[in-house]
Amino acid sequence: MSVTALHASTAGPAVDPIVPGAVLPEATDVVIIGGGIVGVRAALAIAARGIAVTLCEKGIVAGEQSSRNSGWVRQTGRDHREMPLIVESLRQWRGMNALTEAETGFRECGVLYVGESSEDEGRFQAWLDSVAHFDIGAKIVHGNELSALMAGASTRFPCGMYVASDGCAEPQKAAPAIARAAQAHGAVVVEHCAVRGIELAAGRVSGVVTEHGTIRCGTAIIAGGAWSSLLCAGLDVDLAQLKVLVPIFRTAPVPNGPGPCTWLKELGYRRRLDGGYTINAASGFGFPLVPDSFRFMADFLPLLRREWKTFRPLLNEQAWREWRTARPPRLDAPGVFEHVRILDPATNPALNARAMRAMATLNPAFKDVPILQEWAGYIDVTPDLNPYIDAVEAVPGLVVATGFSGHGFGIGPGAGRLSAELALDETPCVDPRPFRLSRFRDGSPLVLGAEI
Ligand SMILES: Cc1cc2nc3c(=O)[nH]c(=O)nc-3n(C[C@H](O)[C@H](O)[C@H](O)COP(=O)(O)OP(=O)(O)OC[C@H]3O[C@@H](n4cnc5c(N)ncnc54)[C@H](O)[C@@H]3O)c2cc1C
Repeated sequence: MSVTALHASTAGPAVDPIVPGAVLPEATDVVIIGGGIVGVRAALAIAARGIAVTLCEKGIVAGEQSSRNSGWVRQTGRDHREMPLIVESLRQWRGMNALTEAETGFRECGVLYVGESSEDEGRFQAWLDSVAHFDIGAKIVHGNELSALMAGASTRFPCGMYVASDGCAEPQKAAPAIARAAQAHGAVVVEHCAVRGIELAAGRVSGVVTEHGTIRCGTAIIAGGAWSSLLCAGLDVDLAQLKVLVPIFRTAPVPNGPGPCTWLKELGYRRRLDGGYTINAASGFGFPLVPDSFRFMADFLPLLRREWKTFRPLLNEQAWREWRTARPPRLDAPGVFEHVRILDPATNPALNARAMRAMATLNPAFKDVPILQEWAGYIDVTPDLNPYIDAVEAVPGLVVATGFSGHGFGIGPGAGRLSAELALDETPCVDPRPFRLSRFRDGSPLVLGAEI
């Protein structure tokens, strides 16, 4: 089955291209749905074992969240359930350029959370205590040590939480580099190839139906980011997930600007490899009011109660689209996966301008620095802000790796490896139970993850 490349233009950042496969195999061992950082890392892990794998991406590799994010790779503030996986991910990130023989932009720049009160310091200390056994070098900083981490800041803050072994990478480079490495190991990576659904035979995965034909396979990994719940609907698998809209922008270079990725009450910023900064507001995000908002209302109520100041409901283009979307998607006709090659939501210039003003107030070196580009992305959120990485019991042969709740770029390499191990029935690198799909249905208490 040959695939004709289409062109998808977006307002999002320019993503490093790959040379996609032009022919879709009729059969393979594993099909991965979604070419974000999780899908491409799973493809690399599987191909490196000499196992046949095809990755189908409806748009372009890293066209959605994996190129639109801020680029932080952080242990700082992580939910304790994700700690083993982020430690594994950082181990991978340190060798990522060598593994991919490409520049992914990873460097250990450190991550700093700035505290404005003794209450913040108490929260920081509680987190430090909870992860002390991971020995990641996390610490509380004050005074000159804190000021040195915030080069040029005009305000002095009471405290910070700092992890020097944290880092960042370049989102427009990393996933494409991993995809190319997967191809070098024999993975077939096909772009502009929307998956409509998964076929079963005798209750287990037997094929993946794409717009270009069906690929026979015994195993499928859904790594579809914000689309995963819809993909699962065709299998009667209940995957509680909602979308949250996050506007973001990048600036022109700022010579001698601050080095660590830094989070404050009003904004977060990261120095890019090109010397500019990727900045986003720390609150004011919206979530489209869609059928899933009501379908999964009970699951999400505790989170909405906690985050009511951060999220506000939206009746926007995405909301209208989802009210018109067929659920489950049809296998025999083009649908939303083909109509929306790249989810490219409108940004929020007012929110971005507010964050830029806050940045310039914090650090006068940013005062006349122009914003070069603004965009937005939908993050895929679960009720406890932890991902689903699981071999689905009800559907043998199906693995899900999704719902990274705004922090999946950093943890993507570990998540990709873990989902590959689950797909191949190997011993997993970390305990996957905290990420099981059934955790909101098996009577376990819902424990909200760390704030986004
Ligand atoms: C503004 C913003 C800032 C963020 N900042 C950070 C950060 O600093 N650090 C961090 O760790 N995380 C951050 N995140 C979150 C992070 O980007 C995501 O958690 C991560 O990229 C998720 O990767 P993924 O592979 O699961 O999904 P995605 O990158 O969304 O990839 C999923 C892919 O699946 C494809 N797909 C879906 N359905 C189909 C189908 N039916 N057929 C074929 N293909 C399909 C999509 O087109 C998409 O390319 C941020 C996100 C945003 C939006």
